Amino acid sequence: MFDDKLFTKKLRSVSYILVADDDLDDQELIRDALVENNVDENKIQFVDDGMQLLESLDKNKILPSLILLDLNMPRKGGKEALVELKKSELYRHIPIIIFTTSDSEIDIKQCYSLGTNAFMTKPSSYYDLVDSMKILTQYWLVQARIVLD
Ligand SMILES: [Mg+2]
Repeated sequence: MFDDKLFTKKLRSVSYILVADDDLDDQELIRDALVENNVDENKIQFVDDGMQLLESLDKNKILPSLILLDLNMPRKGGKEALVELKKSELYRHIPIIIFTTSDSEIDIKQCYSLGTNAFMTKPSSYYDLVDSMKILTQYWLVQARIVLD
C-alpha cells in the first residue's frame, strides 16, 4: 500500500514545509517528528507567529508546499493569518493545516469556514506526534495532488 520509493521521490519535489508556531519546544518536536518521517531537515522552515509567516512568504521567491499553522501566537494568531492567506491570490492554493492544542468545536468550525484545508489537534505524546506527521506527510505530500513549486 505504501510505496517508500514513491514517497522519497515525492518528498524530493517538495519545496519546503513552513511551520508557524510560537512554542520553541513544539517547533523542535515537529521538526524531529518530520525528520523521523524522512523529511529533509533543510525542507522545514519555522516562523514564530502569523506576522513572520506573511513576511516570510512575501520575501521568499519559492513558496512552501504546505503550511502548518498554530492558532495561539502573539502579534498575529493563526486565524488572522489564515484569513489573509486565503484572501491572497498568491497564497491561497497552499494547503494549510491548522496544528494546534485546541480541540474546540468552535475553533474547528471557524477554521474550516475561514478556509483551512485540515485541522489537527496536537497529540500529547511524541510517539503520537510522529504518527500524526506520518499521516500528514503521506496524505498531503504523496496521495494528494498539490502545487509543487
Ligand atoms: Mg501557540
